[in-house]
Amino acid sequence: MARKGTISVTTENIFPIIRKWLYSDQDIFVRELVSNGSDAIAKFKRLVDLGEAVKEDDADYQLHVNYDSEQGTIEFTDNGIGMTEEEVDKYINQIAFSGAMDFVEKYKEQSTDASGIIGHFGLGFYSAFMVADKVRIDTKSFVKDAPAVSWVSEDGMDYEISDSDKADRGTTITITLSEEAKQIFDAQKLRGVLKKYCSFMPFDLYYSDVVADRKREKEEDKKKKEAEEKGETYEAPEIMPINDTEPLWKKSPKDCTDEEYRNFYRTVFHDMKEPLFWIHLNMDYPFNLQGILYFPKTNNVYETLEGRIKIYNHQVFVADNIEEVIPEFLFLLRGCLDCTDLPLNVSRSALQQDEYVKKLASHIIRKVSDKLNEVFKNDRKAFEGYWSDIGIFVKYGMMREEKFYEKVKDICLFKTVDNEFFTLKELTKDKEKDTIRYTKAPDQQAAYIAMAKEKGFEVVILNEELDNNFISFLEYKQNDVKFKRVDAELEGEAASEDEVKALGELFKAATSDDKLEVSAVALGADQLPAFIRETEEARRMAEMRKQFESMRTGREDDPYKNLDDMFPIKKDLVLNTDHPLVLRLRGMASVADDKEKLDALCMHLYDQARLAHGSLDAEGLKRFLKYNSELLTEVAEKLK
Ligand code: ADP
Ligand code: MG
Repeated sequence: MARKGTISVTTENIFPIIRKWLYSDQDIFVRELVSNGSDAIAKFKRLVDLGEAVKEDDADYQLHVNYDSEQGTIEFTDNGIGMTEEEVDKYINQIAFSGAMDFVEKYKEQSTDASGIIGHFGLGFYSAFMVADKVRIDTKSFVKDAPAVSWVSEDGMDYEISDSDKADRGTTITITLSEEAKQIFDAQKLRGVLKKYCSFMPFDLYYSDVVADRKREKEEDKKKKEAEEKGETYEAPEIMPINDTEPLWKKSPKDCTDEEYRNFYRTVFHDMKEPLFWIHLNMDYPFNLQGILYFPKTNNVYETLEGRIKIYNHQVFVADNIEEVIPEFLFLLRGCLDCTDLPLNVSRSALQQDEYVKKLASHIIRKVSDKLNEVFKNDRKAFEGYWSDIGIFVKYGMMREEKFYEKVKDICLFKTVDNEFFTLKELTKDKEKDTIRYTKAPDQQAAYIAMAKEKGFEVVILNEELDNNFISFLEYKQNDVKFKRVDAELEGEAASEDEVKALGELFKAATSDDKLEVSAVALGADQLPAFIRETEEARRMAEMRKQFESMRTGREDDPYKNLDDMFPIKKDLVLNTDHPLVLRLRGMASVADDKEKLDALCMHLYDQARLAHGSLDAEGLKRFLKYNSELLTEVAEKLK
């Protein structure tokens, strides 16, 4: 006899609201139904272990998902604890419904991503109605002689309970897909969703595309017959579960080999590049956290950060990159974290305030910085070798996270133009050298670098997009640290005022630019005769403003270009008074017969300085090359 009923409803449109929520991510019904099956097995297993239930068969604990494209159905089967009729009434009709009420109560006003929390409201089962025209439960409790029951509902509101012919312990949920859902969930899609959420489910999970498997079995039967006729045997390939019930993070770190860590990385992240090193997190006090974090090789820093830190809950995938749990800079790493106690039944904004979550985050940060320190101390050479891959991560982390900054500030490295690596402390050790010299483009600034090195400076390369912000950040954090680009400071004795004045007049006239700033410094006889000096602060400000603008507008070109004219970066021409050419030009200033030629030479020298500085424009370059050819011709003609 069928028992009919209606789930007692107090709010009439509760389901439309829930559905709206759930529709945001349709895939999750798969995760919810499979995890219910997995939970049911875990419960039964526990009872057996406690001696409170008897396992009468010797079947392995298993989950099956069968997709039938002809019928338009998906079946989720487990051989877990099962339900009696009373339990169906209690857990499906009542509990799940009150969970739904709570859910709606809490979330009706918020537009949070619901997919991570649905399962935690006892709403998991009801997610089936997102995709179903009809949902059917066939279940048989482990309780001796309990009759099997079936529950059917088409809308999640009215249901019918009747006897079922299910013979074995456990539960089968059969979903008849709606027309709409059929378009989305084909065999391939379903397999993908299972892989995403259930790859590390704790019990064997088998997936069958029923129609395709039927065909395959027929073929196998045929092959078997053919083989038998020939007197041979044919072994059909074994059907394997699609999951790994023992993900590596569950193993004790001391039992894991490097090869296992690398394999695990490859399988989970499909990255053919080997990870540099990794951290195995494994603790159960004061909270439960297992996982592996990898430091990946990064060829391209701007590659997608999606899917890099995967959060699991009891081996069931919850979500990627939950910013509220994992400090954002850690997304530059890759890994799996199984956070059993994560309070996912609160809103995401509440997660940020949660004490547990804060502790979790600071624990992870500590582990990551400990690992970096360990590698640095144990094998500095190796650490230096990793730097091109991990540098961005470390710098970014320092700027984002005070605790991380404190822990790694003394192992943050700077690479010099000579391929050596130094820490900030090492670079600032020599108190005579009041600034750290850097370059963005070692080849282009070679002349400046040579000069700085001759004065005993190490020249570090800072050519990442974030370096500008990073050095300003360091200067702000540490009073005694100051960075200067190699073209911002030219060491040497300044020439007398008269000399500067004379040279200034000469070059202003030659370049027909009376705003040209000219200085004169004794830079050494074997250095170039002229340089462009660009003040650090103004240049850095301008660069930051540009960076900010392109971030804001998404444009590479600079819509505020005319601001540059309003606040010009201070560039001056520095003449090297140790160089014979400068001495000669100045000496000729008042006595030269051919004033035109003198001006052309001065202009040429100015162009050369700008060329070495990297600030010569196209027109200037043309002029420079043309005149240079003339000079070469002149020299060649004098050749004997
Ligand atoms: P939750 O899993 O969070 O409790 P669900 O809506 O997913 O909420 O399920 C509600 C309840 O229905 C479960 O707590 C469980 O008691 C029962 N249930 C659901 N699926 C199964 C199953 N496959 N086997 C046994 N019991 C189940
Ligand atoms: Mg559930």
